[in-house]
Amino acid sequence: MQHIIIRLKTCKWCGNEYIVKHNRQEYCTENGNYCKTEARREQKRNCWYNHNYKNTKTLGNTNLPLHIHKNTTKEHNAILTEMKRHGLKT
Ligand SMILES: [Zn+2]
Repeated sequence: MQHIIIRLKTCKWCGNEYIVKHNRQEYCTENGNYCKTEARREQKRNCWYNHNYKNTKTLGNTNLPLHIHKNTTKEHNAILTEMKRHGLKT
């Protein structure tokens, strides 16, 4: 006589319940690997964002530093690249 134990967990990405196939499983497999790949993608995106923006002190939501470059051409180029990033034209 065999006992089959079915464990249910909630998916970390979509929140639906699924049947656990192995102990370390965190995401459901109903839609293929959709939940897993999307969760990994978000983790990488947050990591990239924190690496590039959270540790720097900048003006508002721009990449411009708090202090002005002493070299005026560097300052001009920094402003132009920031304007290009926001889609502004001079
Ligand atoms: Zn899911």
